[in-house]
Amino acid sequence: MYSSILLNQFLNRLVNKVLGQHVTIFTLHRAVGEHGLTGTAPDLLRTFLESLIKAGVAFISIDDLIKRRSTLPTDQVFVCFTIDDGYADQVTELVPILLEYHVQPTLFIITSLVDTGILPWDARIAAAVKASTLETFALSDLGVPGGNQKPYTDKRLFRRQISEYAKKLQPQQREDFVQRCVTRLSSDADCQEQVNKGYKPTSWQALQALEKSGLNIGSHTHSHQPLSTLGESQIESEMTVAKGLIEKYFASPSKTICYPVGMAEDFDQRCQTIAQNLGYHGGVTAISGYTTVKTLNENPFTIPRFSFPTDMQNACRYVSWLEKLRPSNKID
Ligand SMILES: [Zn+2]
Repeated sequence: MYSSILLNQFLNRLVNKVLGQHVTIFTLHRAVGEHGLTGTAPDLLRTFLESLIKAGVAFISIDDLIKRRSTLPTDQVFVCFTIDDGYADQVTELVPILLEYHVQPTLFIITSLVDTGILPWDARIAAAVKASTLETFALSDLGVPGGNQKPYTDKRLFRRQISEYAKKLQPQQREDFVQRCVTRLSSDADCQEQVNKGYKPTSWQALQALEKSGLNIGSHTHSHQPLSTLGESQIESEMTVAKGLIEKYFASPSKTICYPVGMAEDFDQRCQTIAQNLGYHGGVTAISGYTTVKTLNENPFTIPRFSFPTDMQNACRYVSWLEKLRPSNKID
């Protein structure tokens, strides 16, 4: 089978030894479900973890990876799992599997989502698109520049396009835009129905129980605003409020922070400085790539992660000696 070649233990260890430690950090988002987003099938996750264990791969938490980076044995292949946001399906369907296989996962939570149930801006856009009964979607209807483009018939493409636009707006403009999406794409009632179906947040109680079973919990900020669009005091407040709530509810929170959205344009040097001043030892992004001792030493606040693929072969590829040998270490 191709996946067993990709995960060949001898080749994987050899390449790691020759190239130096290349750790794969995965981000999981939602479990498959009624949210209109790409989701992870619990069965795929289970099968993949079983294959990793069979291939002699070791699991490491994000905090241990940062702390132990200089002493990691190079003949051992490490994989790290993180999950972002804090929805109920993540906690009931994905986290239990990760804990069952002793993966030492870290869940980065949006604290306002868990604390008040208020959905972040991107989820409200997604729920509005999901609830919409329109057959075609025009950017111009929402006041997005580039309005003479052909209307979209694919909801996913349209959602991605308007989220990309919204993430670059200033906070108040973003809030107004989200409201416009809700009123023009769906009715408030339909949108609320989608929210109830697909965007149920988890609870502090559920998370506290999981922490006792080995889940690490960290900050994904308070309200998931792209930090680069905020002023310094707002960045500080997004991080401080989240940190305070997390410290109130959990015994040993993660010392790593997870930037909202997380592409290179969504965070900047100010975020690193503020996070560092608050006591964080590293930050994870949504930029694709392997984590090496060298990149961690250079900057532990711009750690790349791979979004967990939807099929077995690609999941194996991300952990494979074959991909690590590619000069750029970039996966298409
Ligand atoms: Zn997120």
